[in-house]
Amino acid sequence: MGSFELIEKHGEHEEVIFCYEKSVGLKAIIAIHNTSLGPALGGTRMWNYKTEEDALVDVLRLSKGMTYKAAAAGLNLGGGKAVIIGDPKVHKSEALFRAFGQFVNSLNGKYITAEDVNTNEHDMEYIFMETPWVTGIPKSFGGSGDPSPYTAHGVLMGIHAVVKEKLNYDGVKDLTVAVQGLGNVGSNLVKYLVQGGAKVKVADIDAQKVKAHAEKYGVEALSTEEILSTPCDVFAPCALGAIFNDLTIGQLKCKMIAGGANNQLAEPKHGEALRELGILYAPDYVINAGGLMNVFVELEGYSSDRAFDKTKKVYDNLMRVFRLAKEQNIPTHLAADRIAEQRIKTIGSLRQRHQGKSSRLFTTLKEMDNR
Ligand code: NAD
Repeated sequence: MGSFELIEKHGEHEEVIFCYEKSVGLKAIIAIHNTSLGPALGGTRMWNYKTEEDALVDVLRLSKGMTYKAAAAGLNLGGGKAVIIGDPKVHKSEALFRAFGQFVNSLNGKYITAEDVNTNEHDMEYIFMETPWVTGIPKSFGGSGDPSPYTAHGVLMGIHAVVKEKLNYDGVKDLTVAVQGLGNVGSNLVKYLVQGGAKVKVADIDAQKVKAHAEKYGVEALSTEEILSTPCDVFAPCALGAIFNDLTIGQLKCKMIAGGANNQLAEPKHGEALRELGILYAPDYVINAGGLMNVFVELEGYSSDRAFDKTKKVYDNLMRVFRLAKEQNIPTHLAADRIAEQRIKTIGSLRQRHQGKSSRLFTTLKEMDNR
């Protein structure tokens, strides 16, 4: 299928930019899905895609996901994403990221980038040498640094929300939470849960991480197979995508699902299956928006306290999703989509008249309106 056909097939994107700079080996694609609510923000992923078509499909899909995530989070941001084609172990260089930064800069703030899979704050530093339209830069540069503690704090707020909704209980004290994956998000989440008095079970393919967490926090260590079927109040997936699929759903022995991983449902039908089992599911892109909230604060002039405070909104955002799901008798993942779509429609049309007042964001919106 040709590039234009693929773009048409994958939604109504506003702009797709192919970035090519032979001298540094840069091949990248920036997709701007929707800017109704504000500038399109989304990270830059570096991946050794087998084909250019794979890269294009990935960036189209991911940028659309960012539109929904920002909208459901209540942020004045649109959705975008970028992919750099190449092996991060071989092809990363200062020149590559600076060339990419020049492409980002040429969009005048319509697209704002950040780190993603296989890119880090040092790569963002190179991009920042060429453009102000980058977030997730190191704290020493006035940036917000690693988003994971904020993502994890948002997930904790999401766990509070599912517990309130399902059990009419406040907090996590004495509840059992099974955390799958002890990476950047999972490990911070375990710390918060233990502080809140939860009984925590953990698993990771990395045995060292499991051992370290068991020793540090006194949590129960399980194998990667056991964690899925262990009896618990809340199951918190913080590792892989597509974790809820035909094979896994029947094994679950939890009452609620609330975790940080992206794209948790293998297919939409699995959201319906969870509902039929009576398991309350916190839609992934609503509960894991804490990292996005954190970089949004960076656009206003960064403050860690303000970013932590903002992540508390995940609780209200999820409660709204649960309310709509009940009212319309639909699964929670569908309710989240409807809330996002509604906000894009109503606030998007208002934005013609109202503008935010934060510095970089304000400039962006003004520039966009003057185009
Ligand atoms: P990470 O790579 O630091 O951690 C993932 C962990 O999962 C690793 O420790 C890995 O060993 C473990 N893992 C992999 N396969 C596993 C399996 N089968 N069973 C158990 N553990 C397994 O990633 P992260 O930054 O902690 O992100 C975790 C998830 O949250 C990802 O899906 C990511 O896309 C999503 N997410 C992260 C952020 C963020 O701020 N980092 C924001 C939003 C969403």
